[in-house]
Amino acid sequence: MGRVLIIGAGGVGTVVAHKVAQNADVFTDIMIASRTKSKCDDIVKAIGNPNIKTAQVDADNVDELVALFNDFKPEMVINVALPYQDLTIMEACLKAGVNYLDTANYEPKDEAHFEYSWQWAYHERFKEAGLTAILGCGFDPGVSGIYTAYAAKHYFDEIQYLDIVDCNAGNHHKAFATNFNPEINIREITQNGRYYENGQWVTTGPLEIHKDLTYPNIGPRDSYLLYHEELESLVKNFPTIKRARFWMTFGQEYLTHLRVIQNIGMARIDEIDYNGQKIVPLQFLKAVLPNPQDLGENYEGETSIGCRIRGLKDGKERTYYVYNNCSHEEAYKETGMQGVSYTTGVPAMIGAMMFFKGEWKRPGVNNVEEFNPDPFMEQLNKQGLPWHEVFDGNLEL
Ligand code: NDP
Repeated sequence: MGRVLIIGAGGVGTVVAHKVAQNADVFTDIMIASRTKSKCDDIVKAIGNPNIKTAQVDADNVDELVALFNDFKPEMVINVALPYQDLTIMEACLKAGVNYLDTANYEPKDEAHFEYSWQWAYHERFKEAGLTAILGCGFDPGVSGIYTAYAAKHYFDEIQYLDIVDCNAGNHHKAFATNFNPEINIREITQNGRYYENGQWVTTGPLEIHKDLTYPNIGPRDSYLLYHEELESLVKNFPTIKRARFWMTFGQEYLTHLRVIQNIGMARIDEIDYNGQKIVPLQFLKAVLPNPQDLGENYEGETSIGCRIRGLKDGKERTYYVYNNCSHEEAYKETGMQGVSYTTGVPAMIGAMMFFKGEWKRPGVNNVEEFNPDPFMEQLNKQGLPWHEVFDGNLEL
């Protein structure tokens, strides 16, 4: 019996629902709940399995969530709503005795601030309740941490340098669009950059550091140093790391639009008064930008996300690069969504599968790299995100 409740019916929620439905041996009872029920019903129609239940829920409201959990009685919730809802959903899980998984760390609505402390603070309560919480189980965070754990387990005595590299070489043929929730995406990219070096965090200006990196089957792409949440848990869980950084590619056209959006005040996340009505400019912008869920149809090209690692094995320095390339077209054919939603939703499903199979059951709040990476890596190959390895190549970093 695997009773699972998916919260969130956006791009990622759609992929999770498709993949959960494809693995009916593990997930026997499925419900999709979100703020807008019709979106959940559309997903069920697209999958074509009338046994999947749907419901309306406001995930900012703990009591509503508890009532839904007590009614459907899931064993695990896959939270693919927005990071703002992480704490209310965790709170409701504790009240109703439900295990928890998400793909992004909690963010307060009024501040673009990324850290795990709010969710790690739930550790003792989940442990005492005998419930497992799995944090950050998308691609990055998610597979990036599992790749690192796999490298540490099989190929290194000591990981010293870790660079997570995320390239989207796809083309959606829109002048400007984000690949996942625009509000969350723009908050992430416009903040200061940050990386870890010799026990300290070094802060840079937004997108200040960049360099060409070569991606398999894609070629060189300008890659920008960003702060990304998994850096925080990875340097804690792998204390031999001397330096950890995260890089993401952006095209010039995207960056120009982003600069204009910021310069004209549309990236603001504080409330302003407009003709007597309170609006948050970034939330208004989201309403007029293309919906990431609708990008899939004409999306060409692929993503390439991986970990480039340098460290010691048997006293000798070695390098290791592990990555996945994901085609937007293939992702769309399978789920109706583009590659960025696909690379997030597939690992979320596999994380839940690991829980239901008993591979990843550990009461408390856990980041993905704290679990055994092997069965997860095996499933990545089977579920549409195969990985490749390069040993002792030039990491360019
Ligand atoms: P979308 O905006 O497409 O979807 C979010 C969904 O959550 C929508 O269906 C929305 O409902 C629903 N929702 C929002 N607020 C509430 C609420 N209060 N109660 C109930 N439902 C709510 O986002 P994505 O699918 O692109 O992203 C989902 C998550 O995945 C985000 O947290 C994002 O940060 C994360 N992510 C993680 C990545 C990784 O690799 N780790 C990469 C990409 C994304 P409605 O339709 O009514 O607005």
